[in-house]
Parts: sequence; C-alpha cells; structure tokens
Amino acid sequence: MKSNQSSNRYARQIQFSPIGENGQAGIRQSTVAILGCGALGTVVAEILTRAGVGELRLIDRDVVEWSNLQRQALFDENNATEGHSKAEAASLHLARINSEVRIEPIVLDITSENIERTLSSSDLVIDAADNFLLRFLLNDWSLKHHRPWVHGGCVGATGQVYLFDGNGGPCFRCLVPEPPPAAAVDTCDTAGVVGSATHAIASLQATEAIKWLSGNREMNRTKLLSIDLWNNRIRELSLPPQLRDHCVACGKHQYDFLEGTHAVASESSAVLCGRDAVQLQTNEEGVDFVRIAERWQAAGRVQQTRFFVRLHLNDEQSLTLFKDGRAVITGTDQIATARSILNRYFGG
Ligand SMILES: [Zn+2]
Repeated sequence: MKSNQSSNRYARQIQFSPIGENGQAGIRQSTVAILGCGALGTVVAEILTRAGVGELRLIDRDVVEWSNLQRQALFDENNATEGHSKAEAASLHLARINSEVRIEPIVLDITSENIERTLSSSDLVIDAADNFLLRFLLNDWSLKHHRPWVHGGCVGATGQVYLFDGNGGPCFRCLVPEPPPAAAVDTCDTAGVVGSATHAIASLQATEAIKWLSGNREMNRTKLLSIDLWNNRIRELSLPPQLRDHCVACGKHQYDFLEGTHAVASESSAVLCGRDAVQLQTNEEGVDFVRIAERWQAAGRVQQTRFFVRLHLNDEQSLTLFKDGRAVITGTDQIATARSILNRYFGG
C-alpha cells in the first residue's frame, strides 16, 4: 500500500514535460552538497528533498539560534532552545519529508584542508554560505574538478543567483577578483534580511539545480541574475568569455584559495559576527565527548549529541566543542575571554 502511494510522489514533476521520466531519473541519481544550512540552504534542501534527489550532504558548522527562525525553514523553537546543530536538525526534519533521500549531516567548518574530501562525491554544490572566503574556495574546487555550483547570496531584500559550471569559466573570481575587506561587505548581521527574499533566491537556486540535474542544461541561466525585491528591480549581468583573460582562477588556473596560499588565509579564531560568540580552533580532532562530558559535570549543565558536547556555564556563557576540533564560546565577543574559558575547561 505504501509503495503504491509513494510511487505517485513525483507525478506532478514528471508530468512537467521538460523533466519527464528521464529528468526524474537524473535527479534521483544525483548527489548534491549544500554548503550552509541557513536561510538559503534549508529552503534549497527542502525543495531538492521533495523533488527526489538521490543524496543530500548538508554541511554547516553552526547551531540553531532564535534569530534564525524568522527565515530559516526546517528549524523550530525547540531547535533554538536546545542549540541543535543546524545540519542535524535540518536532516531530521527532511527525513520525515522524504525517506527515500539519503541525507548526511556534516557538522564542519569547511577549509582548504577538508573541502576536497568533503565534496568529493558531489555532482553539484549549492552555495548557501554566509561568507565570501568560502565562495572563493568553492570556485577553486569547482574549476579544478570541473564540477558545477549554484551561487546564491542575499542581504536585505536583494540577492543574486548564477550557476557556475566549472568548465573553464568565466567564474566567480572573474566577477569578484579578490575578497573585499570584511568592513566593506554588508551582511545579514549588519543590514538585516527579509525572509521572503531569501526564500525567493533559494527557490531560484533550486531551479537552476533541477534544470542541471534533470538534463536540461541548455536552460540554465546565461546571465547572473540580481533581484531587489524591495525596490522592484531585476538586473541581468553578462559574463563575457574574455573575462577569463584576466582571471587568476579560470584564466591562469591558480587555485590559491584551495591550496591555502592566498594572503587572506582563513583565520583560526574569529569573532562570529552578530552572534556574541567566538570560535577557536583546538588542536584536537575527534574529541572524546564522553570523557569531556564526565569531566564537566560539576561545572554546569552538560549537553551531549553525536556532533558536539556543550557546557552551560551560566545563562549567557557556554562552551561547545565539535568533533572537528572547533570550540565556540558564547556570551562574549572578546577572543581573550573566550580563550581563557577554553583553557580553563578544556586545556590550551
Ligand atoms: Zn574566472
């Protein structure tokens, strides 16, 4: 009975003639990685899960906070109260939507050192990241491995979308040759963001992905689309082939972000913008959560999941250790304070 009902699941999508049975098979055979489970990533993940993609890899380093709920689909108040990992919370929700999709949550800070192994089996990557450096890294990866990614970004009520196919360029770095200084970039933390705008941009990203995966690649956009939903403006930007001539990445094949040789190296510690939290890197990967949790029992309430162990020091301050060796200290924006909390409870 169940299989009869579920065989109907993709009927409306298959009925749409450009997709059809063949397109649906293409979607089902695909593995898609989503870099970032925030406003864009959760919406793309839901659309692709409902569309019947074969495998989804959800990659995110953060935990759910109350300020996420205004726009980030898939999360609820319980996730925010408990501070669940975004990748895990999203995948639990998605598994209830479509049990046929293999969903792998990956709680990880993507760096030049782990991006190649993390994305190795992905046919397509969704850029749902909230930082510029990750895009440069993804761009290098895409060009080196000839794999497509769907760029998306949204701040305020304005966003843009484009699929970079990884086949020689023009590429993202043709558009933005160098990462802008952090202070020059509006982010959701400084300029705010409207939930309807992020849903619209994510929806456009998912559409580009579905065209590609269903074999309708001639229908992918040939111009970068930029939409200002508040001021009712739509612009399209051409990417002429000659941009490649001056591009370090697609022109000269120098992948300095991927090789970790770019001057703007990713910092090992960072104040997490707008979060009143600091991230530090410990030298220990694969931390023994059980041992740590035992040691912390006397110091405060301890929370332990498959992905992290967390000590609540008081109402504001907490220390969270992740499997990849990161520590996030909330309740402070001072690196020195964060470091001293980490040293006190974990060791330097
Ligand atoms: Zn380029």
